[in-house]
Amino acid sequence: MPRGRSARLFLVLTLIFAIIDAVFVAVNIRFAGDAFRDSLTQEGASARAVFQSALSQTTRDMLSLATFIAGDPEVQALFRQGRDAVRAEGGGAGGSRAAQARAALMAKVSPSWRLVQERFDARQLHFHLGPGSLSFLRVHAPGKFGDRLDDVRPLIVAADREQTPQSGFETGRIYAGVRGAVPITLQDMDDTPDPLGVLEVGTSMQPLLDTLARNHDWSLAALLRAPHVRDAMWSEYRNALFPAGGGACDCVVEAATAPEAVPLLKLLEEDGADPFTAGTRVVSRQDRSYAVTHFPLVDFLGTRHPERGPVGTILIWRDATEATRALARSNTFNVLYAIAAFISLEILLLIAFRAVGRHLRAEIDDKTAALARSNRDLEEFVYIASHDLREPLRMVAGYLGLLERRYANNLDNRGHEFLTYAINGARRMEAMIHDLLDLSRVSTQARPAVPVRLSEVVEDAMDSLRAAIADSGAEISIEAPLPDILGDPAQLTRLVQNLLANGIKYQPTGQRPILRVWSDRDEAGHCRLHVADNGIGIPDDQRERIFQMFQRLHTPGEYDGSGIGLAVCRRIAEHHGGTLTVEDNPVGGSVFTLTLPCAEA
Ligand code: ADP
Repeated sequence: MPRGRSARLFLVLTLIFAIIDAVFVAVNIRFAGDAFRDSLTQEGASARAVFQSALSQTTRDMLSLATFIAGDPEVQALFRQGRDAVRAEGGGAGGSRAAQARAALMAKVSPSWRLVQERFDARQLHFHLGPGSLSFLRVHAPGKFGDRLDDVRPLIVAADREQTPQSGFETGRIYAGVRGAVPITLQDMDDTPDPLGVLEVGTSMQPLLDTLARNHDWSLAALLRAPHVRDAMWSEYRNALFPAGGGACDCVVEAATAPEAVPLLKLLEEDGADPFTAGTRVVSRQDRSYAVTHFPLVDFLGTRHPERGPVGTILIWRDATEATRALARSNTFNVLYAIAAFISLEILLLIAFRAVGRHLRAEIDDKTAALARSNRDLEEFVYIASHDLREPLRMVAGYLGLLERRYANNLDNRGHEFLTYAINGARRMEAMIHDLLDLSRVSTQARPAVPVRLSEVVEDAMDSLRAAIADSGAEISIEAPLPDILGDPAQLTRLVQNLLANGIKYQPTGQRPILRVWSDRDEAGHCRLHVADNGIGIPDDQRERIFQMFQRLHTPGEYDGSGIGLAVCRRIAEHHGGTLTVEDNPVGGSVFTLTLPCAEA
């Protein structure tokens, strides 16, 4: 796993990939779902079109059958006799004459009626007397006649009133079905038309649905709204239509090619669809899915008065279990592909990050090694240069001393002054070279770390400074205990000695140096050694500068020095894996803090 900034970049890229992946999957699933639904809707629309054309074909069949039978002059004559007899016998069912005419008419049409039933799936053959509709003869139910149907059979009433053939779906007293009705009108002797009434041939939806189910991979049903049926049909016929377990829907099954029509209708309603409008939906039942297309069934009156709405619905459904499972499978594959793509991308990303990381690390290692080499070279150069400079400088200083001792009397005041400058310069240069050597020795002559008692280090440093302490009258208090640390005792003594010497040196003129040395631990548990003085202090903005080489805040006239001491101290601290910093002493002066790893854990 990458670290730091790379880890953040890795996480951001991972997040971006994950989001792109998720969006991609969501869009894919959405499109697949939409395409699935679109194809079902299209199939539904073409199923509806096929149904409509089959229905109009059936309607035409009924109409042509009615036209043929009604066109038979014998049928017309017998119907007229019946009409006249009913009129003469007080209307309604009429009397014996009417019964005779009815029987004769029945006998006349019976043979062709049987044929029409068998070959053309007809279900009703009904002679209605006009005006309006008075049932004269139901060939399909010969015992039922004499009832008025004006309020339930608008199709018959319209055919009679308008004297034109009419067709459509309509619910009667016995059946609901597809009907064709033609007016029967005779010509009188004086050529005036004598409208007798209407002949109607009807069939159920069942043969139509059966034919469609046979020729397509569909199941179909025609369902009627229960209130509509209740208003129109005689109860004994109506009851036969209600589905088993009736009440599942407020409807009856007029015709169906499979038993699940009512449960599907109920499922559509539960799914929020209105099955009496047009639409296609997938519903699930008993582990199977069905694509159900539904559209309104409008009866004859509804086609003339659309505001009445449909009297029922046509359901066309097919088993969509396989298609639905295929969609679910393709969605699962989509998700799996996306996960696989995501994992592959992540692996590639990780490999790329690792490779780049390795490359960068190798480059850093190379550069670090080069830097270390050049540092070493530089230190060696400083060491060699300062070491080799000492010899000629010693010669210059020696001869300047000789000059002073032997020829001082021969020089005038200016000569004395020049000689003093030269001797001071040589001394300063000697001190600088000495300090430079010290600096280069920090790394070139480092010794292995050993446990060191800081109390001994401080004592040794004070020993070396005995003269300076005595001269200045400095008061140095050491607050025990001081801890043990791991390091090079000589270098640490050099460091502490430098800090104490500076504390004694950088004092206002005439002030007695008061120094305090104590120890504690920082939050990380590292050992800290503090050296506080009451000296001149260090301005805030100079606190880093004083640790750089040759950086001094004073001229040699004010305070002597080479400007290397603190650079050496910091170098020693860093060599020990520690730090050296300076802060203001709240009571005046400065506090230098050396932080080092303690000897014990
Ligand atoms: P040197 O003392 O040889 O000049 P150092 O590196 O020891 O060089 O110190 C650098 C500068 O830091 C000094 O010139 C002095 O201005 C300042 N300095 C060091 N120690 C103290 C101190 N205890 N109080 C005030 N100033 C100090």
